[in-house]
Amino acid sequence: MPDQHEKAEADITSHDKNPLEIVHELLKDSVDDLKLDENIYHILKKPIRMLEVSIPVRMDNGDIHNYTGYRSQHLDIFGPTKGGIRFHPDVNTDEVKALSIWMSLKSAILNLPLGGGKGGVIVDPAELSDRELEELSRTYIRKLTPVIGPQKDIPAPDVNTNPRVMGWMMDEYDQLRGYNIPGMLTGKPLILGGSEGRLAATGRGVMLMVREAAKVLDMDLSQSTVALQGFGNVGSMTAKYLHELDVNVIGITDASGGITNENGIDIPELLDFLAEGNSLADYDKAEPLTNEELFKLPVDIFIPAAMENQITKDTAPHIQAKIVAEAANGPTTPEGNKILEEKDVFIIPDILCNAGGVTVSYFEWVQNEMNFYWKEEAINEKLEERMVEGFNNVLDMRNKENIRMRKAAYMVGVKHIVKALKARGWIKGEDLSQ
Ligand code: NAD
Repeated sequence: MPDQHEKAEADITSHDKNPLEIVHELLKDSVDDLKLDENIYHILKKPIRMLEVSIPVRMDNGDIHNYTGYRSQHLDIFGPTKGGIRFHPDVNTDEVKALSIWMSLKSAILNLPLGGGKGGVIVDPAELSDRELEELSRTYIRKLTPVIGPQKDIPAPDVNTNPRVMGWMMDEYDQLRGYNIPGMLTGKPLILGGSEGRLAATGRGVMLMVREAAKVLDMDLSQSTVALQGFGNVGSMTAKYLHELDVNVIGITDASGGITNENGIDIPELLDFLAEGNSLADYDKAEPLTNEELFKLPVDIFIPAAMENQITKDTAPHIQAKIVAEAANGPTTPEGNKILEEKDVFIIPDILCNAGGVTVSYFEWVQNEMNFYWKEEAINEKLEERMVEGFNNVLDMRNKENIRMRKAAYMVGVKHIVKALKARGWIKGEDLSQ
C-alpha cells in the first residue's frame, strides 16, 4: 500500500509555493505596516496546537489502510477555534496550518468570537466505498475527541466533506460522550441541528462580496460575465446566487472537465442536471472547456472556487477580468497576485470573500447552544449585515492607507487580534482598543 503521507509531502513541491510561507509573508508585512511589535508575528505564525492522528480503516477487501489526519488549532483568544475538515490526497501539515491561520483572520475581520482551526485527512474519498468513508470519518473524529468540543474547537465541512460526513462525525462524538452535543461541529444536516442557510452560506457570501465590489467599480452586474473554477459546494452556490442577480456565467470547470456558453449557462438547469448524478463535463447545452481555456475567457469577473495555487505566474497573465473573487482558500500565489495587481484587478481576498461559511457556522453554533432555531431569512439578513460590514472595514483600510484589498484585509484582521492580545497582557504597548 503506498504511504499517503509521503505522497502528500512530495506533492507539495509541485505547487508554486507552500501556503504556509505565503501566509507568513503576508502576516509579517501586516505587522510591519501597522508598525507593531515584531513579537506579534512570532505569536501568530504558529498554531497553538497541531495534532497528527493515525486512522486505521478496515477496507472492504479485508486489508487495513492506516490513513494520516491532522487538526491545527491556531488561536483561542476570542473563543473556541473553528474550521473545516478537508479530505484530499494533497493534505499536508503546512496546508492545514495555513488554512487554520486564514480561519483566525476571517473570524477577526468579521468580528466573530472564534479563533481559527482546520483539519484534514490525506485521502482521495472517491476511491472509498460509502462504508469505508463512514469508518474513516468516525475514526478520525474519535481520534480528535480529546481536543475538540463546542467550547474548544468546532469542525465543519471543507473540500470533499459535506453534511452527510458531519452527521457521521457528530454521531460518533455523541456516542462517546453519552449525550447529544450538536454544537460540537457545524454544517450538520438540518434534522440534527444544522442551520438554515449553512449549505449555501459561502456561495451567498461570495455573491455579496462581488456585488459590493461591483459598486466600488461602478459595474453593472446584469451586463457582466463570470468564469468559475470549481463547482462543488462553494462554486455551485456562488453561480446560483450570481445567476439570480442576472450575471452571466459563461465558463465553468471542475475536476471532471469544463463547459462554456458565451450566451450564459442556465445555472438552475445545470444544478438539476448535476443533482441527477451527472457530471459537469457531460452537460451538452454548452461547449467543452479546459481549465487552461477558462483563464483566457473574456469575462468581467473571475472566481476560483476549487483549490490553492491556481492563479499563478503562468495563468494570471491570461486573466482579463476586472474583479477576481477568491472563493477558494489561497487560490493566488504571490507571483500571480503581483501580475493581477499590475493589471489593476480588484481582488476580493479569500479571507474576506469566502467568510460567509464560517459566519453561518457561527450562527449554527449559537443556535445549538441556545437550542432555539432561526428561519432562513433571519440567517441571510445577519450574514449580509456581517459581510457588508467586513467588506466596508477592509475597503476603508484600503482607501485610508492607499493599499490593495488583500493587504487591507490582513491589516484589519491582525489589528483586531492584536487588540485582544494587548487586552490579555500578552503584548505591551499602545492601546489599540479605540
Ligand atoms: P467541494 O469539494 O465541494 O468542491 C471542490 C470543487 O473543486 C469540485 O467541483 C472539484 O471538482 C473542483 N476541483 C478540484 N480540483 C480541480 C481542478 N484542478 N480544476 C478545476 N476544479 C477542480 O469543496 P468546497 O467546499 O466547494 O471548497 C472549495 C474551496 O472553497 C476550497 O478552497 C475551500 O477551502 C474553500 N472554502 C469552502 C468553504 C465551505 O463552506 N465549504 C468555506 C470557505 C472556503
